[in-house]
Amino acid sequence: ASTRAKLRSTQILTSLPQLVSELVQNSLDAGATLIDLGINCEEWFCWVKDNGCGISKQDLSTLSKDSEDGRYGTSKTYTPGALNSISTFGFRGEALASAAELSCLEISSRTANSRETWSIITKGGHNLYSGPAIRWQRESSGTVVCIRDAFYNLPVRRLSHPPPTRTLEVIRQEIETLALVFPQVAFTLEALDDKREAGSSKGRSFRIPKTSSSLASFRNIYGRALIEHTEEMELASGVLKLNGFISLNGAVSKSYQFLYINRHPIARCELHKLIDTRFASSSFAKNALDEEGETCLPRSGLRRSPRKAIKMPVYVLNLTVPPEEVDNCLEP
Ligand code: ADP
Ligand code: MG
Repeated sequence: ASTRAKLRSTQILTSLPQLVSELVQNSLDAGATLIDLGINCEEWFCWVKDNGCGISKQDLSTLSKDSEDGRYGTSKTYTPGALNSISTFGFRGEALASAAELSCLEISSRTANSRETWSIITKGGHNLYSGPAIRWQRESSGTVVCIRDAFYNLPVRRLSHPPPTRTLEVIRQEIETLALVFPQVAFTLEALDDKREAGSSKGRSFRIPKTSSSLASFRNIYGRALIEHTEEMELASGVLKLNGFISLNGAVSKSYQFLYINRHPIARCELHKLIDTRFASSSFAKNALDEEGETCLPRSGLRRSPRKAIKMPVYVLNLTVPPEEVDNCLEP
């Protein structure tokens, strides 16, 4: 059974950024408005702290079970039929059970109606501690999930990671992508291996304050220049709703295109191509091309265009559809 649990976990947790993303999604599902992360990619260490609803003592004890099936648990899908109408990120109770298998997992949590913080520690599928929290005491409801030695028993998965700085960059991008559609949530990330941190502007720690809209969050994260000429939209047709914004400025890159279905980020697909095509044929794009391809590009990763580069639209768009219309078990 332990081999089976380990094999199953390897399918669920594919990388450190993906593991962090699962934890952040759990915090969002728990209704958190403050999510703080600490990350050390060199040490395969991270923690995610939130002010969400917390996990009850009883549910924590499920997560600390040694037996393979005992450990898998979710509070989000109540009946098999519910699989057709999922609105949360999580629904199958695999992430934490898998983290318990492939790392040393410590969870400390407190629910609104509890007076104490309860905690469990597991490693490689075995329970090491279950009792009152020793660290990470909480004053009000919330959860801290701390991962040490991620993939310690699956060394080959560590090898498939890029260097730590790049891994952190991927984590940053995933947090930013979620922050854009959860503007009411404030995020902080502390790069725990960042030796340049103190007093240095080059630190890789960051903070995304809560705002009133995706547009305001975008401005905070990427700066104003990319969204100078912006059209905010809220369109509805039947049961479909589209909201967000598109910048008619465009950027010389595709990396400012964020498309979501029911606030779940989606990978590049036909919809992106359709927007690009429409943008390219619009008069805005033609005007944009007449100007020098000068954009204010933030941070790393983007090169200044040589002469006239083709501008791509910048957008954050969320398509709301009835949950039963999308297959959440795959990419929505
Ligand atoms: P899923 O998200 O698919 O339900 P997970 O393994 O990610 O499965 O989490 C298992 C359960 O643990 C969740 O259903 C939820 O009840 C609880 N949980 C996990 N993280 C948190 C959190 N940050 N706050 C509150 N509850 C949480
Ligand atoms: Mg989850």
